[in-house]
Amino acid sequence: MKQLMDVAIIGGGPAGMSAALVLGRARKKVIVIDEERPRNRVTQESHGFLTRDGIKPSELRQIAREQISVYPSVQFENDTAVAVTGSDGEFIISTAKGLTFGAKKLLFAVGMKDIPLAIEGLTDVYGKSAFVCPYCDGWEMRDRKLVIIANGDSALHFAKTIAGWTSQYTICTDGPDEMTNEQREELRRHDVPVYASKIQRIEAENGNVHQVVLEDGSMIACGGIFFVPKLVIGSDLPQALGCEMTEAGAVVVDDVGKTAVPGIYSAGDAASPKYQVVTAASMGSMAAISINSELLGESWSERG
Ligand SMILES: Cc1cc2nc3c(=O)[nH]c(=O)nc-3n(C[C@H](O)[C@H](O)[C@H](O)COP(=O)(O)OP(=O)(O)OC[C@H]3O[C@@H](n4cnc5c(N)ncnc54)[C@H](O)[C@@H]3O)c2cc1C
Repeated sequence: MKQLMDVAIIGGGPAGMSAALVLGRARKKVIVIDEERPRNRVTQESHGFLTRDGIKPSELRQIAREQISVYPSVQFENDTAVAVTGSDGEFIISTAKGLTFGAKKLLFAVGMKDIPLAIEGLTDVYGKSAFVCPYCDGWEMRDRKLVIIANGDSALHFAKTIAGWTSQYTICTDGPDEMTNEQREELRRHDVPVYASKIQRIEAENGNVHQVVLEDGSMIACGGIFFVPKLVIGSDLPQALGCEMTEAGAVVVDDVGKTAVPGIYSAGDAASPKYQVVTAASMGSMAAISINSELLGESWSERG
């Protein structure tokens, strides 16, 4: 271990980078450990972040890195954090490349990972014409004929939401329909067709879907897909360190990103189901300010 850093940020997406920027400007010694596998790497454009609407996710990262590099106390390591020992004041982080870093505080900005849906062809269209969030990509899919792959409560929720972008859409439950009679009736009243057969495959050209083929032989022509992803947190380290987790597998934090484990914070998708770049960046900034004031308070007390 080289030196004790003030903060180790694990994960260098919008949440981690935003925290690094604030802490670098606050003259804190920071190590950002990032394996560079953000959830939105499949998509061509990221939308809805003021001044950066439509930017390529990799370009957003590059700009962030360039701007943070002005602050010399922030160091980046392209690596995976695999274990953490120690406690508040001196955590030791070990990485996949065999390095160790010491830090007084920890910020987990590890995001969420998609568990791929086992549907033939979905990977080829994901991020090109199949998406998960209408706020991110609904505008680009507006007025198109869409297939929504969702079941149970999510199917009705998605149907109501997507109606803001198009009036032509079909629900595919990809297997037995798990909706209640009331939910089915509500969709019928709104003329939303529901197909309950399993999906056999998605047919597309150059990433552009043109039809969804079901096992019962139905073929649904469409120009886009939205689906409900299955997610898991980017790293199991927060849980291993005793952080409380939500039912959805996110880290439980207070309104500034602090967990109940002293010295450990979390921000971004790992700690909130909002799943937006701007929200992740905002959470990273709030956590950084909170970490910095904790560090300042501690050094103030040590001095008298
Ligand atoms: C297809 C798609 C399209 C999207 N489009 C938009 C959009 O248009 N607009 C929008 O606002 N949002 C969009 N999102 C959501 C957006 O990507 C996330 O909300 C945002 O990236 C969350 O930022 P984050 O920093 O929390 O996590 P991430 O960006 O996922 O970054 C987490 C980082 O931590 C790293 N990491 C994880 N574990 C470790 C470890 N143990 N050691 C080191 N590094 C680790 C990961 O590799 C990754 O680099 C989209 C998501 C998807 C899936």
